[in-house]
Amino acid sequence: MSESVITNIQQARLAALYEVSSQLGSSLDLTEVLNQVMDAIIQLTGAERGFLMLYDEVSGQLRLQAARNVDKEKIESHAMQISRTVVERAVATGQGIVTNNAQEDERFASQQSVVGYQLRSIMCAPLKARGRMLGAVYVDNRLFTSVFEAADLELLLTFANQAAIAIENARLFTQTDQALARTVEELSVFQRIDQQLNKSLDLNRVLSLALDWAISLTKADGGSIGLLEFLDEDETKPALRLLVHSGDQQDGGERLVPTSHPVLAQVLTNGRPVFTHNVTPEQSIDGTPAYAQQAVPIRRDGDEIIGLITLESHDPGALDEEDMAFVERLADRAAVAIKNARLYEDIAAANQAKSNFISVVTHELRLPMTSIKGYTDLMTSGMVGDLTDQQKQFMDVIRRNLNRMNTLISDLSDINRIESGRMKFEMKPFELQGIIEDVADSLQEAIAGRQQTLTLDVPGDLPLIYADPNRVSQVVGNLVSNAHKYTPDGGAIIVRAGQQDDFVEVAVIDNGMGISEEDQAKLFTQFFRAEDQEVRQQQGWGLGLSIVKKMVEAQAGEIWFSSALGQGSTFTFSLPINKG
Ligand code: ADP
Repeated sequence: MSESVITNIQQARLAALYEVSSQLGSSLDLTEVLNQVMDAIIQLTGAERGFLMLYDEVSGQLRLQAARNVDKEKIESHAMQISRTVVERAVATGQGIVTNNAQEDERFASQQSVVGYQLRSIMCAPLKARGRMLGAVYVDNRLFTSVFEAADLELLLTFANQAAIAIENARLFTQTDQALARTVEELSVFQRIDQQLNKSLDLNRVLSLALDWAISLTKADGGSIGLLEFLDEDETKPALRLLVHSGDQQDGGERLVPTSHPVLAQVLTNGRPVFTHNVTPEQSIDGTPAYAQQAVPIRRDGDEIIGLITLESHDPGALDEEDMAFVERLADRAAVAIKNARLYEDIAAANQAKSNFISVVTHELRLPMTSIKGYTDLMTSGMVGDLTDQQKQFMDVIRRNLNRMNTLISDLSDINRIESGRMKFEMKPFELQGIIEDVADSLQEAIAGRQQTLTLDVPGDLPLIYADPNRVSQVVGNLVSNAHKYTPDGGAIIVRAGQQDDFVEVAVIDNGMGISEEDQAKLFTQFFRAEDQEVRQQQGWGLGLSIVKKMVEAQAGEIWFSSALGQGSTFTFSLPINKG
């Protein structure tokens, strides 16, 4: 054979190889890639039929993945025993095989099924990628149709190498794709869990939610969540208190698990989850036997163990490594929610303590103050002897300070009652005009004392509002009193009311000192008062506006203001009109 002839044949083969190879890699879908490979092999080798087998990742067995002109049943049948043996040999040796008479080929002649086997020309190439044996491709022909030669095998082997890489890529992609889908799925589950957990600040509710999620997503039969606590004041006797449970142990009562419990002790010592099979009552956290039990620590800030999530199952198939990993991640989420719920409990308890303290103090102060006021009034009246002018002055100072203290006490107890929900609102329909006029009357003297004017602009035909008249009077009184206090002598105050949709709005307008932008942001917070000397000259505790706001809001209204420093302020509140 001349060199040019060989070259021609080689060129034709290379061209075919190039053509089929170029199709590879166009897809990352495993099934599509396998079909492409199978078609390419038939095209390349001109084989009558063929198939492709890959190792199954889970079982480790060779499994048929694609076939041409031969069906699955046939491949598994006795008649194709030889073909399977050829494939097994190719993957075992990692070498390509070409044989034109399997019956006489010593590699296969020992096979019983060779007897009666229709003679065929067989070719098989292992599929290897990145040093890993993936499987093999097999093709054959009836002997009289055509016979495979060494050069055909070479071509098949070259193509098999490229095909194996394409298959491996598609497989990796599918795996990554599946892993990604799992991660995305888990993230969205955790997003829902976080939302639910963070919505609640009630510890037991948080624990129940976490347990429900753990059970439903791992398909466990039941479980419990317990938190570690000390049984004594010296904090020497820790124990796990099971606060929520579901499943077998349903007596509802809280159970204490000593830290000497074998499984709990192991978790506490190693800081790792403990998986137990064939759980005896002694090993079980909740005392009930099960097939499997997972005990996963809950850690505060990923460190100190504060509790335990335990899941149990009677089904040998349930609760695997993946579940454990999931519950560990869930435990981290639960830890944050537990921390928040506990903080909230602490704050609620501190608030309660503060509220109790204020109740006691205001109550205890009222009594002696009434008595001081009684004696000062008695002395001022001259009934117990004449007072010198200086003594009268001192009595005035005492009385003014008593008034200051009285306002503080009544403000504090108002705030306390509103915050603890103990303030009673006697809601009823009434006319605003009368209330506003009463307030104006009561403040008239003080206003006139500073040459200020108070103008009422309250239409007589305003609809009735639905609120507590005493509280509304307190609100108007407070706002008008502020307008009076924070407006220089000779200033003007206007109270204007009008209907706005389903509300009546009342505006208290002054042309006084106004409030700086910086201070405006702090308005309505307790004890806030502007630093201004003129403000500080006026009596006050900085509690009025915060009480007013709470009262208005408690009666389904709103309050807002506008103000410019040196020009004046307008405070407006709304209250619903009577619908009844
Ligand atoms: P108090 O009057 O006892 O200080 P408030 O809560 O009623 O308490 O008011 C808080 C602060 O808001 C006042 O100290 C003052 O600085 C400012 N303020 C309230 N009303 C006005 C107003 N009409 N004009 C200017 N400043 C005001």
